[in-house]
Amino acid sequence: MTNTRKHSLTILNYYKSFGVETHIQNKPRIRFKNYLYPENQKKRFEDQLKKLKKKIINLDCELKLKAKNFVFYDGVLTSDIMIIGEAPGYEEDKIGKPFVGTAGKKLDEMINAIGLDRKNNVYITNIIPWRPPDNRTPTDNEINFFLPYVEEHISIIKPKILLLFGNVASKSILNLNEGITKNHGKWFNYKNPFLKKKIFTTCIFHPSYLLRSPDKKKIAWEDLKKVKEKIINLKI
Ligand code: URA
Repeated sequence: MTNTRKHSLTILNYYKSFGVETHIQNKPRIRFKNYLYPENQKKRFEDQLKKLKKKIINLDCELKLKAKNFVFYDGVLTSDIMIIGEAPGYEEDKIGKPFVGTAGKKLDEMINAIGLDRKNNVYITNIIPWRPPDNRTPTDNEINFFLPYVEEHISIIKPKILLLFGNVASKSILNLNEGITKNHGKWFNYKNPFLKKKIFTTCIFHPSYLLRSPDKKKIAWEDLKKVKEKIINLKI
């Protein structure tokens, strides 16, 4: 027991010895502040994200010298469902938001199919916040460099479900040896270094991959149905 708790109990027992049974505070204590005032929660997220953004923007990193814009997030800050992709492409770099180009349209289509959308119930980010030149795949060094910041990002949003789109996000967050072909559609209990509670996490084919290989759409649809089931089971 902490000293503060011990001290409080001593005081309470002291009052009890006089026959005091009820304690009325001067001000009401609102125990469900976040539910009653979601704007408080949103403001807290915004402040934490602003700090994280500042930290990342000040990093010494080659990618930022070549990109037009820093691409951080889109969607609902208070969402229970967080999506992580790979890195911004041409359109994302131009606009400064994740998944706004062709792959983004496909992503919207995929999540819309299970009743989700970025205006109402998902939060979206990437592993890499600046566009790699010519849309090349990020190197392992780049991925490892940004991983602690993505982990911090996840700990701010505290999602109940984490959806990793594509190989880069899946391998780096879950530290998997095998790629997405072996691991898509499985549920993992992801342990974030900053959070106590584990997060239900799954890997889904990247929308760009589905655009290139439409024959894989059926598999992706099966995986998305599992996400829908999890949403229902968790009453999100
Ligand atoms: N692909 C990604 O992984 N992220 C984006 O933001 C856009 C395309």
